[in-house]
Amino acid sequence: MLLFLFSCVKNGSENEIDKRVSNILSKMTLEEKVGQMTQINLTVIAKGPNKWVSSFPLEIDHKKAKKALVDYKVGSVLNTINNTAQKPEVWYKTISNIQKYSIDSTKIKIPVIYGIDAIHGTTYTDGATMFPQQITTAASWNPENAYNMALVCAYETRASGIPWNFSPVLDLGLDPRFPRQFETFGEDPLLVERFGVAMIEGYQGKDNDISNKYSVAACMKHFVGYHAVISGKDRTPAYIPDNVLKEYHIEPFKKAIESGAKTIMINSGLINGVPVHANYNLMINILRNELGFEGVILTDWEDINKLYDRDKVARSKKEAAKIAINAGIDMSMVPYDYEEFCENLIELVNEGEVKMSRIDDAVGRILKLKIELGLFDVPVSNYKEYDDFGSKKHHQLAYKSASEAITLLKNQDNTLPIKGKPKILVTGPNGNNMRTLNGAWSYSWQGELTDRFADDFNTIYEAFSNTYGKTNVKYVSGVSYSEKGSYHDMVEDNINEAVNEAKKADYIILCLGENTYTEKPGDLNDLKLHALQVKLAKKIAETGKPIVLILNLGRPRLITDIQPLMKSILNIYLPGNFGADALVDIVSGKVNPSGKLPYTYPAFPNSLLTYYYKHSEVQNNAQGAYNYIGEVNNLYDFGYGLSYSEFEYSDLMVNKENFLVSDTIEVSVNVKNNSEIDGYETIQLYSSDLYASITPDIKRLRDFNKVIIRAGETINVKFKLPVSELSFVNKENISIVEPGKFKILINTLNREIVVN
Ligand code: BGC
Repeated sequence: MLLFLFSCVKNGSENEIDKRVSNILSKMTLEEKVGQMTQINLTVIAKGPNKWVSSFPLEIDHKKAKKALVDYKVGSVLNTINNTAQKPEVWYKTISNIQKYSIDSTKIKIPVIYGIDAIHGTTYTDGATMFPQQITTAASWNPENAYNMALVCAYETRASGIPWNFSPVLDLGLDPRFPRQFETFGEDPLLVERFGVAMIEGYQGKDNDISNKYSVAACMKHFVGYHAVISGKDRTPAYIPDNVLKEYHIEPFKKAIESGAKTIMINSGLINGVPVHANYNLMINILRNELGFEGVILTDWEDINKLYDRDKVARSKKEAAKIAINAGIDMSMVPYDYEEFCENLIELVNEGEVKMSRIDDAVGRILKLKIELGLFDVPVSNYKEYDDFGSKKHHQLAYKSASEAITLLKNQDNTLPIKGKPKILVTGPNGNNMRTLNGAWSYSWQGELTDRFADDFNTIYEAFSNTYGKTNVKYVSGVSYSEKGSYHDMVEDNINEAVNEAKKADYIILCLGENTYTEKPGDLNDLKLHALQVKLAKKIAETGKPIVLILNLGRPRLITDIQPLMKSILNIYLPGNFGADALVDIVSGKVNPSGKLPYTYPAFPNSLLTYYYKHSEVQNNAQGAYNYIGEVNNLYDFGYGLSYSEFEYSDLMVNKENFLVSDTIEVSVNVKNNSEIDGYETIQLYSSDLYASITPDIKRLRDFNKVIIRAGETINVKFKLPVSELSFVNKENISIVEPGKFKILINTLNREIVVN
């Protein structure tokens, strides 16, 4: 409450802020306004050979900064130099310096707004706490972990002097071929919505007071339909019918907007042949008018120019600027050739091609954001006021999230947990580095510098040595990621040595998966696990020793060939700096696993389906026989994950049989822990619409609840499900519940109801 009052006094009420914005706007020249709509990369004003590369240590170049910030009045800067993390004190000095140009040397004295990608911790700050990536967080099925991640990240981002974060990712991670699935909360719209909203609350505070020095402005991204591409490759065409876009892709953004998210970034790709940055219908009709979004709309990287040089819908960069700004863009992440962007936009306004009212609208929103963030009062937050930066307290929250997310997929003969002090061989390319535990956006864009910055934390090999004793644990890589070529290339190191060591060991911890990547460098031609990793797995399996397969990957790579050879399988996804500690605690039995897949784990390259498929997808069983009763060919289903406890579901009850659309369905179920060990279980409530005017999905997740169930205990779990949430978007693009029969499903139980 105190903080709230403080912010009101400092930044004023909504009305006062609007008055302040109008007052500033009325004094601004066109050049100043266009500068506010321009965002440049830090390398453009840092010392160094050119605008793309800077020299170390990071320093602002006076001549370049004066030109951009004073002459062109650029209002926003993003990113770090050379994709590398900086210390908080360097950030403080750099951003203070930038603000001096904008405030001391200009007539209008508007502070710059600095933005950064801090998507699972403060990516570009040396010493920042790295949480599990979003996909891992979703596997915990506990949105509190997303909230904690965002809270810590906001704190540490402000400790780095930065008030604006290009996060959370609200894209639907529905395709394992897409190189950014790990940045999402998985394939289900409800998971994305629940975790996304929790993250916005963590970033902006529950009261949405972003002038609070521990909060940042969130930036939802990438609006909208970014991952639903035909080819599975980054920034390639998607073809999405309006009703599908609305029901699955827009819904999470809708809820995030309702929770007060301040800014949004646009999808870099194209939908139905129209680049989203040129799509007036999506940005104005839907985002502004239907969803009521009032914050700043930001482009993604160079995307205005791409309308001309990649997508060919504009005949020049100037026409591209006209199309994008008129379609609703407020700020352009230029981020290099700002002179050209500014000059083009000024000309367009002078020629009447872009209306001054559109410019005022965009700049008004940007100024409002700057006022709300308190930048006019405190242009840069001071790292000295953030004692908890990189603290134990923050580390523990990151560990907690990883320990709740790691997902046990197989545990034949109860191989896990491994007690005592047996001899263990850790092998595989992911067994002894911090890079693959963290994924991309970790102290560097592609994650390639993580080992330099995260040296203090434990790799899988180190964590196992700490728990089982140095003399009992050995590491032999077998194969490793190639240092040349693409991130997907591998080299054979010493498979024979790994096999020899395996023969001497009691257990093999086989760490396979992926190297780090994001965006285009992560594009993939083959979803199967790399042939060299499969070779290593098969050779090790020939020893007959029990193998625990650790999957350390950003997307489910196909492991169908080797899955039967494994005694146990643990998916650790990208669990962050404390992932290996969490993993060994699960392997040793200190922690009972409770993660569940936030995506479908496919078995075959031509069977890539989300769990909400249509009935006609059910065609072939695994043996190839044609039938409609079999299952789709998944290796593991969405929502699947084992525990060391055994849970039994019974007595699924629904409060009545007949409902009106205005009713709420009361559902309850008993879950018994039939084992001698306490465990967490996530109870998942699904519904099936049995007949509808658009072929219904097999089922849809409607609610979930993760609860602890003590050994031997039975608990009764209740859900309240408004009938309106059984809706789908029909051919007329209207969200509707059609009367008829539905099923309510929990685990293997179901009850039929009727909606009248
Ligand atoms: C990515 C965005 C990111 C931006 C700024 C783009 O290439 O698509 O997710 O926020 O770069 O770094």
